[in-house]
Amino acid sequence: MATDTYTKPIIDGTATRPKVYKNFIDGEWVESSTGQTFENHNPADTRDVVGLFQKSGKADVDAAVQAAKQAYQKWRLVPAPRRAEIIYAAAEILLERKEEYSRGMTREMGKVLKETRGDVQEAIDCAYYMAGEGRRLFGPTTPSELPNKFAMAVRQPVGLCGMITPWNFPMAIPSWKLLPAIVSGNTCVIKSAQDTPLSTFNLVQALVDAGLPKGVINIVTGFGPEAGAPLVEHTDVRAISFTGSSAVGRTIGTTAAQTFKHCSLEMGGKNAMIVLDDANLDLAIEGGLWGAFGTTGQRCTATSRIIVQEGVYREFINRYVERAKKLKVGNGLDESVDMGPAINELQLKSDLNYIEIGKNEGAKLKTGGNRLDKGEYQYGWFLEPTVFADVDPKMRIAQEEIFGPVVAIMPCENLEHAIQISNDVQYGLSSSLYTKDVNKAFSAIRDLDAGITYINAPTIGAEVHLPFGGTKATGNGHREGGVGAIEFFSEWKAVYVDYSDRLQRAQIDRPE
Ligand code: NAD
Repeated sequence: MATDTYTKPIIDGTATRPKVYKNFIDGEWVESSTGQTFENHNPADTRDVVGLFQKSGKADVDAAVQAAKQAYQKWRLVPAPRRAEIIYAAAEILLERKEEYSRGMTREMGKVLKETRGDVQEAIDCAYYMAGEGRRLFGPTTPSELPNKFAMAVRQPVGLCGMITPWNFPMAIPSWKLLPAIVSGNTCVIKSAQDTPLSTFNLVQALVDAGLPKGVINIVTGFGPEAGAPLVEHTDVRAISFTGSSAVGRTIGTTAAQTFKHCSLEMGGKNAMIVLDDANLDLAIEGGLWGAFGTTGQRCTATSRIIVQEGVYREFINRYVERAKKLKVGNGLDESVDMGPAINELQLKSDLNYIEIGKNEGAKLKTGGNRLDKGEYQYGWFLEPTVFADVDPKMRIAQEEIFGPVVAIMPCENLEHAIQISNDVQYGLSSSLYTKDVNKAFSAIRDLDAGITYINAPTIGAEVHLPFGGTKATGNGHREGGVGAIEFFSEWKAVYVDYSDRLQRAQIDRPE
């Protein structure tokens, strides 16, 4: 792999042509069969082209699958602790390159540097965790019902795994998928998000530099229907791990079922933070700003609804809005900036459309609502942090995933009412409660219908060793993170060893 990761930005007028990135198949850099490329733009300044990437099609996916299939025969036999050593070494390399990769990520997707450093750190954390799994991958032994017979269950790799990833966590999400897959002995083909292919390359670069054999991970870049769908349809692919929108997830789940693939779907959210009268309001305001406007609201776990008890409702809104007005929007490479741009024009238009919907539905726009496109903002997809208050829980802005810096605040009478509002959406990813009352906290942990509940913290902040995923339209029952990921990327084999030297029939022979 090439080591000069970045081309020079073209905005100073002195740059050469942007670097062309090729697909990574069987350890080689190869052009796509279509002969076409697409541009990866900086959303804070679209004159800055991060690189040209291959616009791949079915033939490229087929070649990548073939390479992964071949590599699987050797990789599955490499002892798991040896596989883990490569992952551990990759973690060390990522640590060394953390700043470089974080800057590249901010440039390709816009979120502020402290967050892209967190994204790379998440891949590092995941690598250390999964390296440890190489010496665990535990399975149970259990007594047999027959004498002189040994029973156990061992984990086996699934085989060839396909990954399809979104753009909002460009290195963390690929790491959640690739690392548990390879430590379990699988080989992979990843189709990264078209807006953020560079960070997938950087992650795989670290693994290759750490000694990953050819063909174990293959990258195909391009768009969903052309490069993603053939991976889901391919009969040799035994598992698909997808993170993205619920609409695309539904298609992928339906297609994957045709060939009985393992299929893990991590999808949208409409996460609510509840603030009760007894909450530490300073803390709740701080958390609510971070949850709603971190990553420009483009997190599946973003705090997109805030449900506030009547006693502190007005005070919360006034103070929250004052703080939201002061957030500095701009290029994420500037350390003083709080919030970067939307990922692309389509997302910005969708955000603005939801703001119009909110106004037409009668919600009170307290701050924001406008595109920023003058002066320093003119070449990017910037939007003001936007706060709606007095939102009815049935309004579309309170029900649909916006995926932008738009938050809907609504009142509630008590905890029970708040939980009912929080649960009354199609999604079930993250949830949060601010209170000092431990009884209320534990009732909420029991009753919030979501895969994640935070107490006295906003809806964002997952750690790699805990289960990650959601209920209802957010997921299909799998979890990423920690051992859940190993569950998905391995299959159980039950093993019986009979050392009695005679035929023993289970259920039929019943020894005294
Ligand atoms: P998206 O669904 O548009 O795209 C995700 C990936 O799927 C991309 O790589 C895309 O190219 C690919 N794709 C699109 N159509 C396809 C098709 N027909 N066949 C195969 N692949 C196809 O989502 P996005 O805009 O990249 O990301 C935003 C969405 O992701 C939001 O809904 C967000 O909530 C969700 N998300 C969920 C989680 C989670 O863990 N639950 C995490 C991050 C993001």
